[in-house]
Amino acid sequence: DVTHGRILYLEDVHVSFDGFKAINGLNLDIAPGELRCIIGPNGAGKTTMMDIITGKTRPDKGTVFFGSTIDLLRHNEPGIAQLGIGRKFQKPTVFEQLSVFENLELALKTHKGVKHSMFFQLDSAQSDRLAEVLHTIHLAGSMRRMAGELSHGQKQWLEIGMLLMQDPKLLLLDEPVAGMTDEETARTAELFLRLKGRHSLMVVEHDMHFIRAISEKVTVLCDGAVLAEGTLDDVQADERVIEVYLGR
Ligand code: ADP
Repeated sequence: DVTHGRILYLEDVHVSFDGFKAINGLNLDIAPGELRCIIGPNGAGKTTMMDIITGKTRPDKGTVFFGSTIDLLRHNEPGIAQLGIGRKFQKPTVFEQLSVFENLELALKTHKGVKHSMFFQLDSAQSDRLAEVLHTIHLAGSMRRMAGELSHGQKQWLEIGMLLMQDPKLLLLDEPVAGMTDEETARTAELFLRLKGRHSLMVVEHDMHFIRAISEKVTVLCDGAVLAEGTLDDVQADERVIEVYLGR
């Protein structure tokens, strides 16, 4: 069983758009609780890869497994979210007119499919989880503030918190520290290190300082396939990687 001990397993995945091979023989696996960083030049296929994992794009060919038993190609996008794969896009999409607390509560209700949300009361386990998430995302002291009043970095953390209320097994994050101050970036690294272990994470990022702070293993994508994989030092010393970053 090739997928044994992996939370995510991709083998020989291919996707073409009008004959252009955006993903071209991609192999990748992620261990449970791992925090993997994905880097690569523009057009490498990073977004398309996340689109495949979340069911937004269907590959022409290949294997995509979640855990050892779930074939993701047999599930659609909402089904994959329900299986426990959360995705965060670059721009924060919090509800600005609601408080931090209400945003987290709403994320939980949405996940549980609560219809008559006026009468929804958190049970004690859910209240505990919400308090834990508030602490994880550095917003415990701001739970009554309107989301619209938060800084850019705090909005990003709140959106991560909204995903955490659904207790995803795997989180995919697209450039989580883009636009953040240095201090926010450092606190985001701290946040990610808290998530590792309980969740598996795949983080697409360009900020090398951030990657150094959070990651053990880095995957370099180029032309729709893995060019190199290893520690940040390993891949930064790899001549093929240097070549694609310095321009061919
Ligand atoms: P990255 O996220 O690494 O910058 P992408 O996954 O966005 O790379 O894109 C990989 C390649 O596929 C790019 O050359 C892009 O132009 C192309 N591509 C992505 N999506 C589409 C699409 N829907 N139609 C046509 N080409 C696409």
